[in-house]
Amino acid sequence: MSTIKSYITQLSNKLCEIYPPEEALSVVNYYVCEVLKISNTELICCKDRNLNEEQFQKLKKDESRLVKGEPVQYVTGKAYFYGLEFFVDKNVLIPRQETEILVDSIIKRFGIAQNLHILDIGTGSGCIAISLKKFLPQAQIWALDISEKSLSVCNDNAKKNEVEISTVIYDILGNAKFPIDAKFEIIVSNPPYVLESEKQLMHKNVTEFEPNIALYVSDVAPLIYYKAISTFAKRHIDINVELIVEINENFSTQVIELHKNVGFFKNEIIFDLNNKPRFICSKK
Ligand code: GLN
Repeated sequence: MSTIKSYITQLSNKLCEIYPPEEALSVVNYYVCEVLKISNTELICCKDRNLNEEQFQKLKKDESRLVKGEPVQYVTGKAYFYGLEFFVDKNVLIPRQETEILVDSIIKRFGIAQNLHILDIGTGSGCIAISLKKFLPQAQIWALDISEKSLSVCNDNAKKNEVEISTVIYDILGNAKFPIDAKFEIIVSNPPYVLESEKQLMHKNVTEFEPNIALYVSDVAPLIYYKAISTFAKRHIDINVELIVEINENFSTQVIELHKNVGFFKNEIIFDLNNKPRFICSKK
C-alpha cells in the first residue's frame, strides 16, 4: 500500500532523470491531481492518505509516458489556459502561460467594444480564440489553421467551453483566396517562431512531442509568418485596428521594422513575465 506522498516521491525521483527536481515534482503533482481528479489544495491536505488499488493502477497506467518525457498535458489530455480547460493532443501546441498576457491585454482593452470581429491565425488548440470569445462574448471570432486535425481539437474545445467561434482551414503562406468575407478590428497570432538552430537548446518534451509545424521556422527566413500575417492584415483589417502577434524575444526590432514597411506605423512591445519582448501590437 502506498500513500499519495510516497507515490509522488518515487515518481518524482524517476522524472529527475529528465527534468530538474522542481519541475519533476510539479509534473508529478499535476499528474496526480488530474488522475485522481483532485485540486492542488486537496492534494496538499491528503498527502498522507493511502491510494486504493484502483487509484494506484490508474496512476501506474501512464507513468511510462511521463518517464519517456511526454508532456504531462498530452498524457492527461488536458491543459489550463486563462482559467479555462482545454483538450490537447499531439496535433496542437500546449498553451503557454505567457500567451495569457496577449489574451489579457486584448480583453482589458476591448472589453467594452461592441461589434468586434477578431481573427486568430494559426489557432492550434484554439486557446486564444476561445478565451477571447469567453470573455468578449459580444465579439465574432474566426480561428484559422492549416491543420484539419488541430481545427478538430479547436472545435472540441469550443464545445467544452460552451462558446461559438468559426473555424476555417487556411494556409496563411499559400495563395488561396481568403474564404471569409469580413473586416477585422483585431487580428491576433502566435505563429511558429523558434529557429531551427534554437531547437537544440530546448527540452526533449518539446522537441520530441510537440508539433514541429507549430513551433519552428528556418533560420534563413525567421519572419516568414510575420510577413504573411502583416501583409494579410493590411488588406483585411479595418481602419484604426490592431494586429497583435507573439514573437521570438530576439526579433522584436525586426518584426517592428517589417510591420512599418508593410504600413503599420504605430508599434508597441509588450513584455512577458521574464521581462522579454514577447508581443508586438501594431496599428496603421
Ligand atoms: N513559446 C513557445 C516555446 O517556447 C513557442 C511558441 C511558438 O513558436 N509560437 O516553446
